[in-house]
Amino acid sequence: TPGVTPLVAGNWKMNGTAASLGEIRDVCAGLDHKDALPHETLLCLPATLIERAASVAADSVLSIGGEDCHPLESGAHTGDISAEMLADAGATAVIVGHSERRTDHSETNALVADKAKAAWRAGLSAIVCVGETREERESGNAENVVASQLAGSVPDAMNAANTVIAYEPVWAIGTGLVPSGDDIEAMHALIRRIMTERFGSEGEGVRILYGGSVKPANAKEIFSIANVDGGLVGGASLKASDFLAICEGV
Ligand code: PEP
Repeated sequence: TPGVTPLVAGNWKMNGTAASLGEIRDVCAGLDHKDALPHETLLCLPATLIERAASVAADSVLSIGGEDCHPLESGAHTGDISAEMLADAGATAVIVGHSERRTDHSETNALVADKAKAAWRAGLSAIVCVGETREERESGNAENVVASQLAGSVPDAMNAANTVIAYEPVWAIGTGLVPSGDDIEAMHALIRRIMTERFGSEGEGVRILYGGSVKPANAKEIFSIANVDGGLVGGASLKASDFLAICEGV
């Protein structure tokens, strides 16, 4: 999208221990030897790794993010982590509404919107995930589902700096399946239209990432599609060499 700095974001999910910090070190080394990157890079990590990864990446162009947050700042919510805690550990962004959270933890659009607001309250940018299931696509409802997820999950105070939209068809996550280029283009055009109608120039400038089985072999082609402003990468972000190769595709 003209005037928009693309973003390549990784999502490690429930993977990684101290032994994985070497991958972060390798990502930083690989990114930093390039002079002026045409895009931003982010790795969203399990909360246990954020502080150590942020310290590894301190002098690098790589940013570190969280994978989820609680809507509140603090309180009696055993096991939960607030956006303020993520920021305190060195995160600059957080994923909200990933399909695995929507499914495993029954997260609603309203809860996802509250989490996005919590991210902003803590000074983080929110990566709001949307996407249809296989059944929803096969029954012709993909557009309606994504439109209603956007309406319910993106709060009114969204702007192009505090929010990133990630379109992740659920059936493409971790499956090796990817929609056709035409289907990605059509959905990203719809998301752009919806965001622009509701938010004006902020919607025109918001980054819309594609996620779902992005890998080195398909990244360049996907990132060249209109209104695809980078990617959200799961499995292929766990290995520095794969993540770096995907970043090359922007
Ligand atoms: C994700 O979970 O955000 C994702 C896109 O996963 P994968 O790249 O492994 O399909």
